[in-house]
Amino acid sequence: MTVTVATLGFPRIGPRRELKFALESFWAGRSGEAELIEAASALRAAAWARQNALGVDHIPSGDFSFYDHVLDTSAMLGAVPDRYGWNAESVDLATYFAMARGTQGDGAAGSSRAAGHTAQEMTKWFDTNYHYMVPELAAGQTLRLASTKAVDAYREAKALGFETRPVLLGPVTWLSLAKGQGADPFDFLDDALVIYCQVLDRLREAGAAWVQIDEPVLVLDLDARQRAAVTRAYARFARRGPKVMLATYFGGLGDNLALATSLPVAGLHVDLVRAPEQLARIVKSASKDLCLSLGVIDGRNVWRADLESLLDRLEPVSKVRDLILAPSCSLLHTPIDLGLERDLEPEIAQWLACAVQKVEELAILKAALNNGRHIVAEALDASSKAAATRRSSVRIHDAAVAARLAAATPDMASRRSPFPARAARQKDRLALPDFPTTTIGSFPQTEAVRSARARFNRGEISDDAYLDFLRDETRQAIRWQEEVGLDVLVHGEFERNDMVQYFGERLSGFACTKNAWVQSYGSRCVRPPILYGDVSRPKAMTVDWWRFAQDQTDRPMKGMLTGPVTILNWSFVRDDQPREETCRQIALAIRDEVVDLEAAGAKVIQIDEAALREGLPLRRRDWAHYLDWAVECFRLAASGVADETQIHTHMCYSEFNDILPSIGAMDADVISIETARSRMELIQAFADYEYPNEIGPGVYDIHAPRIPHPEEMTALLKLACAHLPAERLWVNPDCGLKTRKWEDVRPALVNMVAAAHALRQAGS
Ligand code: GLN
Ligand code: ZN
Repeated sequence: MTVTVATLGFPRIGPRRELKFALESFWAGRSGEAELIEAASALRAAAWARQNALGVDHIPSGDFSFYDHVLDTSAMLGAVPDRYGWNAESVDLATYFAMARGTQGDGAAGSSRAAGHTAQEMTKWFDTNYHYMVPELAAGQTLRLASTKAVDAYREAKALGFETRPVLLGPVTWLSLAKGQGADPFDFLDDALVIYCQVLDRLREAGAAWVQIDEPVLVLDLDARQRAAVTRAYARFARRGPKVMLATYFGGLGDNLALATSLPVAGLHVDLVRAPEQLARIVKSASKDLCLSLGVIDGRNVWRADLESLLDRLEPVSKVRDLILAPSCSLLHTPIDLGLERDLEPEIAQWLACAVQKVEELAILKAALNNGRHIVAEALDASSKAAATRRSSVRIHDAAVAARLAAATPDMASRRSPFPARAARQKDRLALPDFPTTTIGSFPQTEAVRSARARFNRGEISDDAYLDFLRDETRQAIRWQEEVGLDVLVHGEFERNDMVQYFGERLSGFACTKNAWVQSYGSRCVRPPILYGDVSRPKAMTVDWWRFAQDQTDRPMKGMLTGPVTILNWSFVRDDQPREETCRQIALAIRDEVVDLEAAGAKVIQIDEAALREGLPLRRRDWAHYLDWAVECFRLAASGVADETQIHTHMCYSEFNDILPSIGAMDADVISIETARSRMELIQAFADYEYPNEIGPGVYDIHAPRIPHPEEMTALLKLACAHLPAERLWVNPDCGLKTRKWEDVRPALVNMVAAAHALRQAGS
């Protein structure tokens, strides 16, 4: 029996984020379309060559994207909303980027483009931190083949001498992610299938023997319509040319396993990292002719695999059937190459694998399975040694952290008194007006702030000079907040590069990287910290800054922290213990910081949990367990303080309606929350749920490129008053202001404070 290696997709952004720079230069008008296209084809060629050199047998094509693969699929299907005024034969780059980013508008009177057009909505791809453009399907819309990307990419690779396996996002996943306007997206199933079949035909004509079709929805809870669509689609595809490798990932097939193995497809890829237990079931139920692709290397994380133990599991299967070995999912979600990371501690570096290293691991597994372990004895030995040091290293296992966790008692996760008693004490102590005003924490990270940080990081300015600069910025921001008349102030977060990395750099158990970028959306990349070991706090992380800021003003200055669940969800997290245990360690470290801020005199402390909801498991039946421990971790972080100390939290980027009881259970004294998408609905939901504590529904949508009028915000606040008790309402923007410009922030906050005054007047 033979074993081969596949990758389901490779990072697109390039080892040095070449695509990012090419895109941004094109958007800024500094370079033309030809240069962008040229940069993109160079990146594709390099990725193919690299995978080929690493020994990949099934190299993907069509996994590259100028912006997003879901958007590419919308383009393929001609699913372009009317507002873009598109009527060309194929989706050109201008239309494509308009869908991705919106257009500014040319302001010309009478022109249909005068006002500009909003981009398509963007949201998270399953439980990753990658964001896709939500397809839109309106009643009466016609679909037609409008992009030949899949075929073009296949031919382009072939011309370079690479035989590839084209990748398509499957129709059922695409329809499941789409939003219908006056229509159910699944009404478009047959129209979409016609186009998919045209693409499959063209791929066959171009010579493709296989095609990979991704249907990650198969790991979700599916309704009858989705299941029927799966059956219908793959029955159609079975009659076309290329053999179909149906790829599932981000979890186990679970109750969809029988459906998946009954489809007339030639191959099935399954995720054995998230769901190792499904291997036995699949081997048993899949027909002998089904080509199995096993996702054995973690495509979502940065850990090196323990190859010997993988071989123990794979050898029995590889004796009885041919296998393809692959990462669990596309390598899009991992940084490209550990080799670019020169400053990591060698001991930590040896535990890690990025996309390139993961492909190397697959090649070693393949060699061992085909020719015996002795062929790759040295590599296996190195892998085992790394795994062994990870099990025992004192860098990872800190007895003091374990002891502290073991000694934590349930009462530590509760404030001393219930909310009403705390609220009364806090009101006395803070003596704030009704409808108190505040902001979420950050102020604009201006070009000056970013360039000072960059110069400091390059060693071009001294510690002192940098500190002086930051102090000046902070001082000015505080002065300005006083002038505008905000009630609870923030220091502005100028010293923070990122709300998670800032803490990752200060906590033990984390390593931060220089080049380990992962695409978040479009040209945007993030560098999640690597959480490799037991977490503790060597010393206070924010107290000095808080003290400096509070010294500038008599008004209350908020302590500003990132919560444990958000730190966890935005890091690469160790896989050698349950996430909840890791999260409890972070919670205890943040708790110490909260207590220290209180001791320094902070009366108000905000613990941001922006990413709490996005950690929700993909399957509903797993939600309760996650929410239980996530809420407990927040409470553990927040509950070390006296009743007088007011704990705030902030949440954003999410649909909150279905987790309201958990938000209530967090028991923060005040929550500020993003409501940009639909303020009415959110306020209604909080009212229906009878949210018990204080709440600041964001009245200023910081993502909208406009300055809200005072009347708009007054109207929103009146609406909130109609549903929620006025004495529990706060007035604030719906998120941090770091991405905004001062020119927008100033008038918007002046208007916001005016709105609060108007309400106070109306109430008195
Ligand atoms: N305090 C952070 C800020 O203001 C919160 C950011 C966020 O919610 N994502 O930037
Ligand atoms: Zn936010």
